[in-house]
Amino acid sequence: EDFGYASGYVVGGAERHGQVLVKVNQQTLVCRIPKGRRAPNMEPIVGDEVKIRTSDAEAVVEEVLPRRSTLIRRQTMKPQVLCANLDLAVLVLSTEPNFSEGMVDRVLVSAHAQSLDVVLVLNKADLVPRGSEARHRVERRLFVYEKIGYKVLFVSALEGEGLEDLRSLLGGRTSILVGNSGVGKSCLLNKLGQGQIEVTVGDISEKLKLGRHITTTTTMPRRRLFSFSPRPLRPFRHRLPGEGPPAFLIDSPGARRFSIWDVKPEELKEHFIEFIPFARHCKFSDCRHLQEPGCMVKQAVEEGDVPPERYMSYQRIYQVLLEGTEGSFRSA
Ligand code: GDP
Ligand code: ZN
Repeated sequence: EDFGYASGYVVGGAERHGQVLVKVNQQTLVCRIPKGRRAPNMEPIVGDEVKIRTSDAEAVVEEVLPRRSTLIRRQTMKPQVLCANLDLAVLVLSTEPNFSEGMVDRVLVSAHAQSLDVVLVLNKADLVPRGSEARHRVERRLFVYEKIGYKVLFVSALEGEGLEDLRSLLGGRTSILVGNSGVGKSCLLNKLGQGQIEVTVGDISEKLKLGRHITTTTTMPRRRLFSFSPRPLRPFRHRLPGEGPPAFLIDSPGARRFSIWDVKPEELKEHFIEFIPFARHCKFSDCRHLQEPGCMVKQAVEEGDVPPERYMSYQRIYQVLLEGTEGSFRSA
């Protein structure tokens, strides 16, 4: 018997229950999840860094290393951990279909509550040519976010505008594309993948076949490891081609449904990042910035230091959270 240990990242689910695909060096291995790890939210998920053990018969997930972050979806009462070790949410927007500020604000709150950075990407910039009235209009809307500290990029997956800037922004991080359906997330992923990534399954099994020829430190019979025609399920973790620090993108339809379910009404104000410097000086330390006297956030709104749209959005979301009627919302 010949055992070998290696570490890698979970890149996707496998076709069979109780298995995951783990990328070790350049190889993608089908790894068994031991019974004790199969409880919901205990099992290894996409993005997890894992230690695996390979014997001549199989590869097994031995250990899941501590997660830097998790993305959680709550569709019902049951939270579901979707992926791990994310750094950045790329919120993809377009003018056709148009976006709403309400959706943007909710995504920003959810992301901040989960310690994710966000960058706003207006895709389909080719539909709003520079200098046109439509361009000015969308620039004005997005300038609100730029002013409070969010990075905003104009790109066109179709014509290539801004893609280099986006690519360098993703370098050295693990990101996820979120946004309504039809804004161009799949197109962007394919463009960033330079034809090496396809959001199809055929491509993946091809890569697995190639993996057979790469030597490893163990003498595992590779036929066994790859014998399941391991059609991966989404979500999937792609490494983008290109120079510089490696960029990973997690492609997960499920994660497009962000949730602010976990945010308590009284915590909401912490996720409106531009309130924070003013909130420190409110008369009451637990000021909700609503009807309280001596509220410096409200004063900042009046003096133009906090965008009024954002303050109105805060009031609306606060009310929704208070009523608890619509904790989760659809963004896809
Ligand atoms: P997803 O639902 O967010 O994954 O969106 P898709 O990637 O499927 O794109 C939806 C539609 O938008 C498709 O018809 C694309 O051709 C179109 N589209 C994507 N990117 C661009 C772009 O940069 N410019 C234009 N004009 N159309 C685009
Ligand atoms: Zn206040």
